[in-house]
Amino acid sequence: MSNVSRPPPAVQPQNPDLGCPRTVCEVWMRFPLSRPTLGDQESENVRDAMAWGWISGTGSYVSAFERSLEQRIGRAFATVVSSGTTALEIALSALGVGPGDEVLVPALTFAAPAAAVLTVGAVPVLCDIDAETWTIDVEAARALRTPRTKAIITVDLMGHPCDYERLAELEISMVEDAAQAHGARTGKGPAGSFGVASIFSFHVNKAITSGEGGAVLTDDEELAEKVRLLAHHGMSPHHRYHHTVAGRNGRMTNLSAAIGTAQMARWDELVAGRREAARLYDARLNGLGFSPRPQRTGVLPSCWLYCVTSPERDAVVKRARHRGVDARAIWPALSDLPLYRPYARLPCPQASKVSRTALWLPTWSHLTPEDVEAVTEVMV
Ligand SMILES: *Cc1c(COP(=O)(O)O)cnc(C)c1O
Repeated sequence: MSNVSRPPPAVQPQNPDLGCPRTVCEVWMRFPLSRPTLGDQESENVRDAMAWGWISGTGSYVSAFERSLEQRIGRAFATVVSSGTTALEIALSALGVGPGDEVLVPALTFAAPAAAVLTVGAVPVLCDIDAETWTIDVEAARALRTPRTKAIITVDLMGHPCDYERLAELEISMVEDAAQAHGARTGKGPAGSFGVASIFSFHVNKAITSGEGGAVLTDDEELAEKVRLLAHHGMSPHHRYHHTVAGRNGRMTNLSAAIGTAQMARWDELVAGRREAARLYDARLNGLGFSPRPQRTGVLPSCWLYCVTSPERDAVVKRARHRGVDARAIWPALSDLPLYRPYARLPCPQASKVSRTALWLPTWSHLTPEDVEAVTEVMV
């Protein structure tokens, strides 16, 4: 049976990761922000893992997920872990980033990259974004590099790949955060193929999901071994209970991997479905005072959550939410948050500007033209 039109049960409290929980909403959200597309294969894989008792961080779905990621992105080594944030922390640690180091991070992003830098004991240095792509401004990064700069995290923001040709000129060790960019590409390759390491998230609101989950990808075998070691208690894979570093348990469960493996087989369908949702929104909102997020020619972005800007952003969001559409203002710029403001050595006006005018609309693959009509109706 296909999952395409299976609605969530009407009486079940909404998942706060996807929509607004009932208790904090003005009204019941008819349209959550996001919704996973789960089908029979996902269920079957989970049942299979359960039947065999393989429910921890070891199992055939874990390795199947890793092999299919390697194949899909064209990288030599993938290690799946418990979340995208864990993937960032482990990638940074594996690169030797720690106390005394600085890591360049864009000022407009979900906060995980900056938080991961702090978690490993280093200092995030916030760079403004570039108006043309909303990704890290290469000139800002150049201006902010110091002898302590150990790495740069490049976020393919909302599915738009960064300017990897110009970033390469900086010759800074790069971690590509492709958490929002499953299926995006540039002329040089797919999102997830850049940097000495790249990470994905498979959180439920991402285009490909395992519930919670993440992955670190690299072509560097030594780095891949460090990643695996750090995610597996720092324990030698050849010598049980022989710990060579203070590792963590960052493993993904075989249950999550069972879902993720099924999703990998639907990669093209799920990515195309979100792109089609964006196309429908673009067509419907054209001429109504909304601007689609900018896009550089020569790249094929993916759609994570559909994003537009409006000079009336807050009023539009309020109107939509009151009518059961979980439209949301995007994140504040990190440079405008008290926690992260001290890490902005230069002003980040572009990040602030976008953060004050942009909003997301409900997005999932298999969003129908009728859904788009109903969502946009409450916005204008
Ligand atoms: C979602 C996301 C993450 C973190 O992923 P989790 O799996 O939720 O920990 C990291 N970076 C970006 C840009 C993200 O959007």
